[in-house]
Order: sequence, then C-alpha cells, then structure tokens
Amino acid sequence: MSSTVPFDPNQPAIVVEDLRRQFGALQAVDGVSFSIDHGRVVGFVGANGAGKTTTMRILATLDHASSGTARIGGYDVMNHPSQVRQLLGWMPDAFGTYEHMTVIEYLDFYARALGYRRQERQHRVREVMDFTDLTPLADRLSNKLSKGQTQRLCLGRALLHDPQILIMDEPAAGLDPQARVELKRLIRILAEEGKTILISSHILSELGEMCDSLLFIDKGRIVHHGDAESMMRPSETPETLVAVQVSGEHAQLLEWALTAPKVTVVDETKRGARLKIESTDEAFIAATLRRMIMDGIPVVDFHREEKRLEDAFIDMLGRMREPNLSAPQPPPLPS
Ligand code: ATP
Repeated sequence: MSSTVPFDPNQPAIVVEDLRRQFGALQAVDGVSFSIDHGRVVGFVGANGAGKTTTMRILATLDHASSGTARIGGYDVMNHPSQVRQLLGWMPDAFGTYEHMTVIEYLDFYARALGYRRQERQHRVREVMDFTDLTPLADRLSNKLSKGQTQRLCLGRALLHDPQILIMDEPAAGLDPQARVELKRLIRILAEEGKTILISSHILSELGEMCDSLLFIDKGRIVHHGDAESMMRPSETPETLVAVQVSGEHAQLLEWALTAPKVTVVDETKRGARLKIESTDEAFIAATLRRMIMDGIPVVDFHREEKRLEDAFIDMLGRMREPNLSAPQPPPLPS
C-alpha cells in the first residue's frame, strides 16, 4: 500500500510560503518561505530554538501555522492533512515505544493502522525490517533497543507506507559514529530511490556531505538556502583560519588574541584555539606567529585550516546581526 495519492512530480515536493507560528508573545517561525523539488535531499540547520521542529511539525500536519501556507505534493497541509499524511513519512526527534511490544509487533501494529491487510502487511513489515537491518532484532522488545536501533525502528515506522517525502527531525542526535554512518547509508539509499528528504541536524559537516542543499534558519527566519559550496565561498574580507596548540594552559593564548591585531578567537580547543586572522598575506601570518612566540605563548603547533561549514554559518549569522545591516530578506525560491 504505497502512497496512492496522486501528485504532480513537476511541481515542487514541498512549498512553504510566509509561514508563521506564534506561541504567545514568541514568534517561533517568522515568515519562512522555501521550496524543495522532488528527489532532493535538503538539510535544515539552525541553533537550538531556531524554529526547525516547529516548521517540520506544521509540515507533518501536527501543528497549525498562525498564518502562511505549506503544501506537500501540491496539497495544503491545513486543508488536506489526510492526503499529506499519505505522501509523507515523519520521523520525530523523540520517539516512543511500547513496553511489551517486540520490534515486529510494533511495526505490524502500525502497518495495521495504515490499512495493510494480511500477506501484504507481513510482506511490507519484512521489507522494512530488512531495509533497516532490524530482521535479526525482530523479537527484541522495542523498548530494549540501543539508540541507533531505536532510530532505525523509528525510520522503519516512517517508511511503512512507502512515502514519497520524508521529514526527519534530528535523526542522528545521540548516535555513535558507527550508527551515524549506518543511518547516512540508509538515507543515501532512500535518496537514490528518488525520495524527497528534509532532514534537520546540528552536525553540519555531515549534512554538507549528505544533502543537495542546506536551509539555514535563525530566530524563525530562513537566512540562507543553497548548497554547501555556496556557504563556503570566501567572504569579502580576506581571512585565514589557524589552529594553534600550546603547551599547558591555553588561557594565555586567548588573552593574547584579545590584543593581537587582526586576530579573533573562533573557538577554543582542548589545548589551544582556532584563530581567525584577517589576512591571507603569508608574510602577515608568519609575523603573527612570530609575535605570538615573542610574546611568550608556548606554541607547539600552528597550522592553517580549511574553513568549515560551521564557521561559514557562524560568520554569516555574525554579519547578519551587525546592527547596521538590515534584516535578512528571504532568499529567492531555488528552482
Ligand atoms: P532544537 O534544535 O532545540 O530542537 P528547534 O530549532 O527545533 O530547536 P523549535 O522546537 O521549533 O526549535 O522551537 C522554536 C521556539 O519555539 C523555541 O523558543 C521553543 O521554546 C518555542 N516553542 C516550541 N514549541 C512550543 C510550544 N508548544 N509552546 C511554546 N513555545 C514553544
């Protein structure tokens, strides 16, 4: 019983226009607009509280927008929730299991709820368990699974009706590296099958690898929609990132960076810091290192680093929050 609701594959899979959601005085989603074509994998990125879950819950027909519209496969989420649910697989960030239900019973329960009958149901449950590698765990109690296995069960449940579009809220949160690799592999297969996937995460580097484009949200507003490369383009001011390690405490390095010309601390590391030097001139970079040593910083390692997606995002937010800049305008809808 794959989703039988007709949809036009030439129309975008997800279209959101000027979506707003207010909780009392709080504007959690503040005029969000974007569009995602069929078959695309899009990462939804933003800090805690930026409005990702709220937007996704509205798309999944679990919450109402205060204003604006959202369409899934051409169906308005508020006026046609039942069509939307047939087209959509929803994987929430928190997942409940039932105490006395095994993995197979759990999936069977949801397959029944979705209207699958007898052999078709057994077949679909087996297919989903095979895909998510849960077959060896079929008789394990669903509340006794590891975090990674639980996430695969959650994905399996979302896939039971073979939805065309998947919305996944922080599916990789709390997973160990191996479980993350496994989840990424499953997402890649689903993408190859042509599913449209909107996936939120804090792990930016992983999203960059996995997604065709990234949607950045900050304080309820979309601040960028583009591929990872477009985020990484050099900024207007030339700059170089360097990682510095020191012997002993790094407090002295942080203090030094406060007064050094054209140097700012990007983040602290266990034994040093990542610094931004506002120059790409090698002579200036060498002079900065010389000055650091002359000022008594016990440098044991100093090397240039590639800009990371996280840095690009933080830079962009910093620029947008500069008081003399006007509020960001929603980007044009990508085709
Ligand atoms: P996180 O990465 O922490 O999950 P998020 O980007 O998903 O964050 P949301 O969960 O969408 O953020 O929350 C956006 C804002 O709306 C937050 O300030 C949150 O506290 C608030 N919020 C969300 N749901 C409700 C609610 N039901 N009632 C009141 N405030 C809410």
